[in-house]
Amino acid sequence: MVDIIGGGILGLSLAYELLKRHIPVRVWERSASLGGLMGRARFPELDGMECDRYYHAILSSDHTLMSLFDELGLRSRLRYTITKMGFYHDGRIYPMSTPLEFLRFPPLRLIDRLRLAYTILACRRIKDWRSLEQIPVAEWLTRLSGERTVRHVWAPLLRAKFDGDFSHVPATYIWSRLVRTTDTRTKGGSREVMCYLPNGYQELIDALAAAIRQRGGQIEVNATIETLQVTDGRVSGLVVNGHELPADNVVITTQTPIARRLLPPAAASVAARWGQLDGFLGIVCMLVVMRRRLTPYYTLNITDERIPFTGVIETTNLIDPQYVGGYHLVYLPKYVSAESPFARMPDDELRQVFLSYLQQMFPDLQQEDIAAIRIGRERYVEPIHPVGATDLIPPVTTDIDGLFLANTGQIYPQLTNGESVCAFARSVATQIQPLVTRPSSAALSLI
Ligand SMILES: Cc1cc2nc3c(=O)[nH]c(=O)nc-3n(C[C@H](O)[C@H](O)[C@H](O)COP(=O)(O)OP(=O)(O)OC[C@H]3O[C@@H](n4cnc5c(N)ncnc54)[C@H](O)[C@@H]3O)c2cc1C
Repeated sequence: MVDIIGGGILGLSLAYELLKRHIPVRVWERSASLGGLMGRARFPELDGMECDRYYHAILSSDHTLMSLFDELGLRSRLRYTITKMGFYHDGRIYPMSTPLEFLRFPPLRLIDRLRLAYTILACRRIKDWRSLEQIPVAEWLTRLSGERTVRHVWAPLLRAKFDGDFSHVPATYIWSRLVRTTDTRTKGGSREVMCYLPNGYQELIDALAAAIRQRGGQIEVNATIETLQVTDGRVSGLVVNGHELPADNVVITTQTPIARRLLPPAAASVAARWGQLDGFLGIVCMLVVMRRRLTPYYTLNITDERIPFTGVIETTNLIDPQYVGGYHLVYLPKYVSAESPFARMPDDELRQVFLSYLQQMFPDLQQEDIAAIRIGRERYVEPIHPVGATDLIPPVTTDIDGLFLANTGQIYPQLTNGESVCAFARSVATQIQPLVTRPSSAALSLI
């Protein structure tokens, strides 16, 4: 039996993969519902409308997700949309969806635009990411795209993504991002195709939960794991909502700082090892439910550093609004370190600040256009992998028999998203299968 802590997409897809390998599982989730960061937002004031709490795109090139959809019978549920991207620069919006629009982007001279296009092509040719992980992203981009493009395009985007400081970020970050998004282009590369499930990622979460239960797996919600028990160098139990339970094999899927808090003093060496690389950025994200469309773009990147949010993500330019009560969904994310004033700003103030900047960007935005607002806050979202720190990433296995760590902080150089999380879950299942199916040392000593 394997006990999995965390009922987010990682915990559930890992449970499913282990069951496919005939290994029994129990999933423990602290919240009342499954899905974690991929969970739902509910609006009783809008006739019970529900939508994804955060924006979650699926790309047509997401091969692991597609095979999972096939296995779970969800493939026919997918809807495809050609999406558009724009840039907000110097008080104006520029379309940036096609190569031609790209080549017309005014802040750059022709030579800069050509070098930007070259950067993207060069990225696709790089297969050995190890050569990039020692190079700071700004240095690498300046070499490829030139100083002007870095100043006008890359630096504002990176500053927004890493809450101001991207000096520690390796070149692999942009490489992963460009390789993933250029794979989603239509033939000829002119348009980006994305897809979605009509009821959001919740459909995948529900289908995984149903498949787990159907194969005999157990899922417990409202079940907080308080600590693990370790005896003679191996896992011996779990404390769930104050009750002790015997356990042989435990996989923790929560982010590393949370995982460390679950370890008992007997696992101090494991806690120290995990602590070598456990940084995560958090996020504050305001969801504005609108009665009309705001932009034609799925993503509007912002290079104007006066605007506090990272971008304007209008997911109803991907999802048909009929699936969210006819409303239009606009997400305003801001990545934050724990010290960021935005991380601690009270909801009322945050709402006022974000709305005033949104109004500045879209002067025709009226109060009556807004049907509802929700503010989401998460402390651990984006794992931080500094330059040259790959060897510090904690391994899945530990010095304690039966104790494993599998979380988004270990996904590298890929970025964290549904595709990479499900691919990682598959590889973790393969990796731990021989370790959780062999007879325990106690059983061996009886033979
Ligand atoms: C604003 C935003 C935008 C994003 N955009 C995208 C996107 O476009 N595409 C994409 O694919 N991904 C996107 N992501 C990332 C994606 O949401 C995450 O990578 C993914 O959901 C992580 O899943 P997880 O299972 O690893 O973690 P989580 O979802 O955090 O799950 C961990 C679970 O563990 C539970 N837990 C914690 N402590 C305990 C305990 N002691 N006992 C029991 N249970 C516990 C938590 O309640 C939680 O449910 C985005 C995330 C955010 C916040």
